[in-house]
Amino acid sequence: MHMHIELTPGIALLLATAPIGLGLGWYAWRCRSLPGALILAAVAPLATLWALTSIGEVSASTLERKLVWANIQYVAITLLPVGLLALSIDYSGRRPWLSPKHILPLCLVPMVTLVLLWTDPLHHLMRSTVWLDTTGAYATVGRTFGPWFWFHSAYSYALIAAALGITLATTMSTPYFYRRQPLALLVGIIIPSTWNAAFIFAPSVMPAFDFTPVAILVGGLFAAWGILQIRVFNLVPVARHTLVEDMADGVLVLDETDRVVDLNRSAQKLIGRPRTSILSRRIGECWDAWTQMAAPHAAQANQADLSLADDGRRRHYEVKWSPLIRHDRVVGRVVAFRDVTERVLMEENLRRQTLTDSLTGLPNRTLFMTRLEEAIHMARRRADAIFAVMVLDLDWFKVVNDSIGHHAGDALLRSVADKLKRCVREVDTVARMSGDEFMILLNSISGVRDVLPILERIREELRVPVYFRRQEITTTCSVGVVLWDHTYDDPEDLLRAADTAMYQAKKAGRDCHRIFDEEMHISVMRTLKAENDLRAAIRQNRFSLAYQPIVDLRTGTVCSLEALIRWHHSERGTIFPDEFIATAEESGLIVPLGEMALREVCDQMSRWRSGSSPAVHLPVSLNVSPRQLAEPEFAEAVAKRLDEWRISTNHLILEVTETAFVREPLKSKTAMQALHDMGVRLCLDDFGTGWSSLQHLTTFPVQQLKIDQAFISKMAPGNTFFEVVRSLVSLAQTLGLEVIAEGIESTEQWLLLQELGCDCGQGYFIADPMGPAEITAYLEDMERGSCFLPQTPKRYDTQKPTDPARRAPDIHTPAWRPQVSLAVERTP
Ligand code: C2E
Ligand code: MG
Ligand code: MG
Repeated sequence: MHMHIELTPGIALLLATAPIGLGLGWYAWRCRSLPGALILAAVAPLATLWALTSIGEVSASTLERKLVWANIQYVAITLLPVGLLALSIDYSGRRPWLSPKHILPLCLVPMVTLVLLWTDPLHHLMRSTVWLDTTGAYATVGRTFGPWFWFHSAYSYALIAAALGITLATTMSTPYFYRRQPLALLVGIIIPSTWNAAFIFAPSVMPAFDFTPVAILVGGLFAAWGILQIRVFNLVPVARHTLVEDMADGVLVLDETDRVVDLNRSAQKLIGRPRTSILSRRIGECWDAWTQMAAPHAAQANQADLSLADDGRRRHYEVKWSPLIRHDRVVGRVVAFRDVTERVLMEENLRRQTLTDSLTGLPNRTLFMTRLEEAIHMARRRADAIFAVMVLDLDWFKVVNDSIGHHAGDALLRSVADKLKRCVREVDTVARMSGDEFMILLNSISGVRDVLPILERIREELRVPVYFRRQEITTTCSVGVVLWDHTYDDPEDLLRAADTAMYQAKKAGRDCHRIFDEEMHISVMRTLKAENDLRAAIRQNRFSLAYQPIVDLRTGTVCSLEALIRWHHSERGTIFPDEFIATAEESGLIVPLGEMALREVCDQMSRWRSGSSPAVHLPVSLNVSPRQLAEPEFAEAVAKRLDEWRISTNHLILEVTETAFVREPLKSKTAMQALHDMGVRLCLDDFGTGWSSLQHLTTFPVQQLKIDQAFISKMAPGNTFFEVVRSLVSLAQTLGLEVIAEGIESTEQWLLLQELGCDCGQGYFIADPMGPAEITAYLEDMERGSCFLPQTPKRYDTQKPTDPARRAPDIHTPAWRPQVSLAVERTP
């Protein structure tokens, strides 16, 4: 095909367009995963085709040739509108619409147009007349248009209008700040279509030559900038739009006057109004909950907590806002709402668990103490209202637990909790401290007169029986009350006072209350002083051990010694355990004291060993307190001590009382089992006075049973005490336990016990507790042979006052004098 290309500026412009179109297409192809890019890759080369065929048309020398170029050009002209529509659809995020089922029908008109164009000389449906127009700068094809041309134009512009409409909708639905991209595409479509429309409909104002391909390229560059250039994800508007729209977090965009510029679905659901009634309105006007954000916002904070009622449930949100800055100016802010209900509920749950008692749901000690502190704080500020603290301890709760079972105990505690709550007002606090101990804080009372009716109500409520598996359980409680006065600053002091009063109520026979008063205060002070004295004495090691022989009642041989502690007070002289063991127990000082006693026993035994005292062969009984037994690793500590002093475990007997089994049964049993396993013997002391449970004798590994002196002292032939002792001895024998009688003060008692078959005994009649040296002397006396029990027992432990009434009168004229000797053969 002969043609001559003259490089005029117009031709140059078209020539330049051609590679740009191809380049743009190639680049768009590379970015084809972005919305719109794939279609752009197909459309851009059409512009190149249009440009090249335009050059061909201008440069061809004959009309026929020009018409061939013009016809080829129509491939681009007819397909471009379809391409633009597809581009706008893809860009709007609706790629699924672009199926062949939809696209092929759209291509029908272009196809018919192309066929009609090539067959135009037969029907002139496209061009009515054609001539070579040489009037302009270039020789072009002059034409008047046929009917199909107009139809095709209308069709093409309809497609372009649809593309514009879709792009415009996308632009509108894109948040204000991110509209640059769809706008670019819009401009990209408007430029070539306007140019082309002007070329067709107002040829007089346009250049004679059709520069539409150039316009397409300019528009294409605009579009490409919009689609490809700004590739940061959050700025790809559609993707961003979808992302923000589908987010679980609510997002609000406000302008600088707090008008809602945009919001996502979650935010709209949160506000609970249609989008249209939120957009462009001030947020405070369309959402009441916004007031919750006012305070933190005023305080320049950038986050706040929001809580909303939703279907009766409360939901919690964490709200954060950040400024939107454009050209160094804050133009608004983005507010994000995150639903943190689950977390808040979990935290609340945790808090509740740490502050409430799991069994009863009542506040626990921690929460009670906080409330108590608050009450003190309040009472200090208001002179007219004081408060009271009550400590309630159920009477005989242990019995319920032990006899009916723990489930019954739990049921009882729960019912007591409910009853107590019913007895007080909303403003008061009922708490469970531990076990069967409850506390009540009575707020805003004027005096003791307000407390008494509550106490009465509690008594009445508790008297109503509780049923557990058809078993009726009734309970009573002992209550200690303290009324606040300005001398109390520390909540612990108040609790201690209420506790003291409660113990007084217990002492007074239970099922009653005591109000903490001056007398109790003095007694508390006395106890405190006693504790302090004891503590100082322990520090200064002012204790020693006295040893009382325990003899075989049949043969009179000494079979062991009981170690008994003595306190050597600088002013008061020797103090006996009755006066300080209880204080030591209550204060916990019994633990270091017991530790000291154990050390002393071991030390003494090793001294006897090195001094060849006859006592070296005798096992020593040491009293241990329930608290010591409950200490973790008590058995290990004993083992360590014995090992340290190289004392055989069978030389130590530990005396325990039943209190240990009742207070800490598990821990005591574990410790006793460990001691038993290592070979230490265990003796159940003071049997008959406490719980005297047969069960204790069988479940705890004891080898000796010591009958309390109360029975021995009151024993007379045929009386009840005698019978009790008889049954205790036979019980011990049945269980294979060695039985010891303590507090033998007369020959008669000795004989009676012998008659009953009691194995061993101790008492002033036989020998007093003595110091280590005296014990050695005493035993050496025994050893020197035929040593009889003194007619009048020799008193070693002279300071210990003996109740003369308890001493049997016949002790001075014994009818029978047992012989006492050493139980163990001495090695020469
Ligand atoms: P207990 O273990 O039942 O010891 C027997 C108590 O009876 C001793 O009193 C002893 O001196 C006294 N006694 C001995 N023979 C007679 C008698 O014929 N008539 C009378 N009326 N009393 C007699 P003590 O030494 O005052 O000890 C009292 C309690 O103190 C002991 O009772 C024991 O429970 C406790 N105790 C003593 N030493 C210790 C110790 O080292 N640790 C612990 N935890 N408690 C100890
Ligand atoms: Mg004892
Ligand atoms: Mg005893």
